[in-house]
Amino acid sequence: KSLRPAIIAGNWKMNKLSMDTMSFFYDLKPLIKEAKCDVVVCVPFTDIATAAVASKGAKCKLGAQNCHFEPKGAFTGEVSVDMLRDAQVEYVIIGHSERRQYFAETDETVNKKLKAALAGGLIPILCVGESLEQRENGETLALLESQIKKAYEGIDAKDAKKIVVAYEPIWAIGTGKTATADEAEEAIAHIRGVLASLYGDTAQNISILYGGSMNAKNAAELVAKPNIDGGLIGGASLVVDDFVTIINAAS
Ligand code: PEP
Repeated sequence: KSLRPAIIAGNWKMNKLSMDTMSFFYDLKPLIKEAKCDVVVCVPFTDIATAAVASKGAKCKLGAQNCHFEPKGAFTGEVSVDMLRDAQVEYVIIGHSERRQYFAETDETVNKKLKAALAGGLIPILCVGESLEQRENGETLALLESQIKKAYEGIDAKDAKKIVVAYEPIWAIGTGKTATADEAEEAIAHIRGVLASLYGDTAQNISILYGGSMNAKNAAELVAKPNIDGGLIGGASLVVDDFVTIINAAS
């Protein structure tokens, strides 16, 4: 675990206007000066410019929630990796379950987006995780193995270790129902095992986060587990005090 930096990443999803973004970073900045973990805030595209100004000098990095895999061209409504870099974004969430579910993202597009992000110098936060039905059918570990193998297809070890993985059981996202620390640790240890089968010892350097109703109350127990290197936080990342409590739990 000491080989890997702890990371707490917020995912605002489709929330906050520019005024909210300014006040969020104004409040956050002084509270994370001593943070020992890496802090990332993944904002909507329309808040990036405001966040880039408002977070100047703060101990946190900016992330986006999606990108397109093509470098440019006739892709109405899409945003490229270069555009994100140009806007001072350093991280990008790829393959969030909401995008797989509502926006037809597949293991194949996730793989293409990972490659585009890596080639363009963004750090991808790759999301994987099972549905409730898959968990109840005992398919969780096989599904995770398949999602990981397809996501990393054609990616070498040097690039693989730049990717941050987030294990996000779909049934725990936005539901207030968290995986127990033992369930999360089992799934994440399995993901690390799959990465080890692909990349050997490099898997020990890959940060794997838990996501799914992680909050100020349960964060400490989750990040105490040997394979859980931090969290991807949805709802609780919208409120500065809750987000800071989670950051302190991981520091
Ligand atoms: C997420 O969307 O990545 C997430 C984990 O959401 P929440 O924390 O709200 O469950």
